[in-house]
Order: sequence, then structure tokens, then C-alpha cells
Amino acid sequence: MTAALTTVGFVGLGNMGLPMASRLAAAGYRVRAYDIAVTSAPGIDVRPDVTEVAEDAGAVVLMLPDSDAVESVLYGAGLLAALAPGTIVIDMGSSQPLRTRDLAARAAERNVRLVDAPVSGGVKGAADGTLTVMAGGEPGDVARVRPILETLGGRVLRLGPAGSGHALKALNNLMSATHLLITAEALLAGERFGLEPETMLAAVNGSSGRSGSTENKWPNFVLPGTFDSGFALRLMLKDMRIAVELVEATGVPPRLGGAAVALWADAADHLPPAADHTEIVRRVRRPDDRS
Ligand code: NAD
Repeated sequence: MTAALTTVGFVGLGNMGLPMASRLAAAGYRVRAYDIAVTSAPGIDVRPDVTEVAEDAGAVVLMLPDSDAVESVLYGAGLLAALAPGTIVIDMGSSQPLRTRDLAARAAERNVRLVDAPVSGGVKGAADGTLTVMAGGEPGDVARVRPILETLGGRVLRLGPAGSGHALKALNNLMSATHLLITAEALLAGERFGLEPETMLAAVNGSSGRSGSTENKWPNFVLPGTFDSGFALRLMLKDMRIAVELVEATGVPPRLGGAAVALWADAADHLPPAADHTEIVRRVRRPDDRS
């Protein structure tokens, strides 16, 4: 830990942010945090005003829902103006890559650095410090915050300039969401054919159809019927839309991705607003359920 980075600001203490901020505090960082909906958290100095997280902070982590929230915190609420020159903002949420590029340029005008470092691995990975971190930014900036990122993730990869991490994170989730959807269809068909879900998963997980959905989501959240992964369906849909926009912008026709977005959007219309993303399986199993 370099002297400059012993104090970390942290904005967004939700499903992911709270366990991540707690890990940083447990690792010895002084964490000053802010969340629009949280007034206290064990071991963390929660401040009533977001600009106070800038105090002495060599780096400020953002773990917010989307680019709108990131911009509202940095521009609207005045965090960017409160940061000392040289501070590194680390946007670890899943934001829009083109808006991240713009943000990096706007921050640079104030000599504030921007690293995008979205994560994969879910709430459990956040609590265990085993997240995969997909970083974008200048090599020197990523190197400076690497100790912070390695406290949070077991695998920290720099992918390229600012926005690169957010681009890959969205594309990863487009793949993940599409896997979960096809798994729901295929396993439902298998069940109707007379096969047991547990037996199918045991076979598929040793076969070429396996994925994070069959290895993690089905056994841990779908089969037990808990649907409590901690990653909201609306956030998954947000990531898929970011990805499909990116796919289109590159000239690749988003034929399967577009179809997947339509099916997830239909699920979002028919499931409760706080539904977990694993509840897409419920929608596939009961497409006529309007509740
Ligand atoms: P969440 O909704 O649980 O938490 C977001 C937090 O941000 C909330 O506590 C909310 O009060 C706070 N917030 C919103 N607007 C704010 C503002 N203007 N100022 C201050 N605080 C504000 O979301 P999450 O599940 O923790 O996800 C955070 C980000 O990480 C998202 O971009 C998501 O896509 C991504 N992500 C989530 C998971 C997961 O498994 N949950 C995994 C990987 C990535």
C-alpha cells in the first residue's frame, strides 16, 4: 500500500459495494463512504455528503448502478470538483464504455485520473475478494490502484485504455445472460421429457454445454428456489443493452443478442421491479404468468 493510497473514498454501499468497502477496511485502508440510502455501516466511516469522501483520498471507488448515477455523483453532486489533482477515480460498477471515455477526458481536465474496473463474481466474490476485475485506463494509473483492486479481486486484468473494462464487462454479461436463458429453455425441455434437473446438470457440467449458469446459478439460486444471487434483473438488462449498443456500433449484427434482450425485457415487464436476475428462469417456465 503506498502512502498516498491508504485512504480510499467509496461511493455506493449496495449489494456489491458494502462487502467491497468492508474488505478494504479489513485490509487496513481508511474508508470514507457515501450512499444516498445508507447512513452507517460497521467499520466504515459513512459521511452525510458525497464530497466528504474526497478528504485525503488518493483514490475513490464508485460502485453505483449505472453511468447516470456515476455522472450525477461526479458532476451533479460535485464530487469531481472536490477531488484533489492526481486522485484516481475507480468506477467499478458496470457503466457505459463511451460515457466512461468522455468521463476520463473530462476528469483529465482537472488532472483527476479515471480507471474503469468493473467486476464479475457476484456478491459472494465481493465478500470473498475473489472477483475478476476488468480494468481500463493508463498503465501507470492501473498500476497505482492495483493493490486496491487486488484486495477486491483474485484476478486483475488491464485490458486497454479507459472504457475497455466497461466494454468487456457488458459483453461478458450479454454472454452470461444468453447462457442463462438457453439453459432455462433446454432444462425445461429436458424435464418435460422426463429427466431430473440435478442429473442433467451433473452431466452437462462435465460436458460442452456447461457455463457459469449451469455451474453456479442453477445449483445455488435456481434449484433451491431462493433466486437470491444479489444481482438484480434490471441491472442485467441494463448491461445487455449496453452490450448490444456496442455490438451494433462495431457493425456486428446483434442477431442473437438482440433476441436475448427482447426476452429479458419481457421478463422485466412481468416480474417485480426488485426481481433477481436468476428469476428469468421463472419467466421461461411460466411465460403466461402476468403476475
Ligand atoms: P445495488 O443497487 O445493490 O447498489 C447500488 C447502490 O448505489 C445502492 O446502495 C444505492 O443506494 C446507491 N446509489 C444509487 N444512486 C446513488 C447516488 N446518486 N449517490 C450515492 N449512492 C447511490 O447494485 P449492486 O448490485 O451493488 O451493483 C452495483 C454495480 O455493480 C452495478 O453497475 C451492477 O451492474 C454491477 N455488478 C453487480 C453485481 C452483482 O452481483 N450484484 C456483479 C457485478 C457487477
